[in-house]
Amino acid sequence: MKLLFVASECAPFIKTGGLADVIGAVPKALAALGVDVKVLIPAYPALADLAARGSELAHFPDLFGGDARLIAVTAEGLNLLLLEASHLFDRPGNIYLDAKGGDWADNHLRYGALSKVGAEVATGALTNWHPDVLNVHDWQAGLVSAYLRQAGKPVPPLVMTVHNIAFQGLFDAKVLRALGLQKSLFTPSGMEYFGQLGFLKAGLAFSDRITTVSPTYARELVSSEFGMGLDGLMRARQADLSGILNGIDLEAWNPETDAELAQTYSVRGLKGKAANRTALEARFGLKPNPDTPLFCVVSRLTSQKGLDLLLECLPGLVGRGARLALLGSGEAALERAYAEAASRYAGSVGVIIGYDEGLSHLMQGGSDAILIPSRFEPCGLTQLYGLRYGTIPVVARTGGLADTVIDANPAAMAENCATGIQFTPITALALDQAIERTCALFAQPKLWQAMMRRAMRHPIGWDRSAAAYLALYQSLLDERGAS
Ligand code: ADP
Repeated sequence: MKLLFVASECAPFIKTGGLADVIGAVPKALAALGVDVKVLIPAYPALADLAARGSELAHFPDLFGGDARLIAVTAEGLNLLLLEASHLFDRPGNIYLDAKGGDWADNHLRYGALSKVGAEVATGALTNWHPDVLNVHDWQAGLVSAYLRQAGKPVPPLVMTVHNIAFQGLFDAKVLRALGLQKSLFTPSGMEYFGQLGFLKAGLAFSDRITTVSPTYARELVSSEFGMGLDGLMRARQADLSGILNGIDLEAWNPETDAELAQTYSVRGLKGKAANRTALEARFGLKPNPDTPLFCVVSRLTSQKGLDLLLECLPGLVGRGARLALLGSGEAALERAYAEAASRYAGSVGVIIGYDEGLSHLMQGGSDAILIPSRFEPCGLTQLYGLRYGTIPVVARTGGLADTVIDANPAAMAENCATGIQFTPITALALDQAIERTCALFAQPKLWQAMMRRAMRHPIGWDRSAAAYLALYQSLLDERGAS
């Protein structure tokens, strides 16, 4: 089976969030099952060296106002197709945002181009490689389906994967013409969203199947509470919607080999975790206290992540003698509030504003528990890294957090199967109670260590999920074959 992935980021080359981790990992897991996968992403500056050593497969002399080339290169076990278009992607800083922090004004052209080229590859742009199936990811690749609709020739089946429905890629309808899209597709049952062009909406309306990244989020998406205005469409397409849980890259995230750790450790030998804790305390200026947990947060600082709730809980957390190390960046108000908290609670709350992949590993290695109070969470990866590193996840009961963490309630403790703490409703009060429960469990070292070991053994690799993706693609091909 030949499969084309289209996405806007891919770890370890270019990453702003969990999407990149998934795009970097699933193709490898699918390749292990015999699938021939190529991943189409833009050649941002971070990928310039890679592009320079690749070979040109196709040339587009005028892709929305400039010259573009498709470059094939293999790296980190991935077969990449890099879309080189300097007028669209050769820009410094964040891939989505300009220097002032606003969206690039031509994001419709940038990701319209990515989508258009995805559709071209699907309809024969490459001489030696024609995909049997497409899997496109998030709004940036949503228009692939629209370009295929207007291709006027047979096209492969297409799966649209939603990693976060909050990001929909909405643009003024005026851009339709610049994108070369037919007006006939611009309807409420197509790619129109209340008078605007919706990239994600196009993907949801015109795809053969829709997946999202956890079973609970798939159920939540059909509700007005979580569907972000697209719940009606999700309900209409419920029969084609399924949730396939994300896994993690077990090689990149392995406490037994992780080069970012002060000391490696394993489920059989947890001792090394202490050295990481000490390193983390030093890095964040926290005073050591072996009797209380060191909590961490590794996150975008946005209202989705519920970190305003955590601010309200800091007096209680500090009052219990616990500590917090936070690494994150995002909304200015939250960045400010956490910087203030770090000075108010010096020695108990440490904050680093920024994005630091290496430090995120040390935080998983050196903390006792990771706090994830998200208001919604399609899947979430940091709780999975927490499980892998024996860093107990303390999570809101929503989306993928609900699907991946087994709450330490009395029944689960009696059955020895708890791997973390869940709380609901998603309020500061319930989060404070969860922090208190965590401190109480931490004070019972035998119970705590047993929970750490269970967490570390919890299966979170990609094998099961990759098999589910493969079964989905195969069912689409079988349907085509049967028709
Ligand atoms: P989302 O994709 O909504 O941001 P996920 O939990 O799915 O949330 O994935 C977030 C990814 O980004 C994880 O790999 C996490 O470790 C990483 N991450 C988030 N913030 C930072 C940061 N400030 N520094 C380093 N890594 C970060």
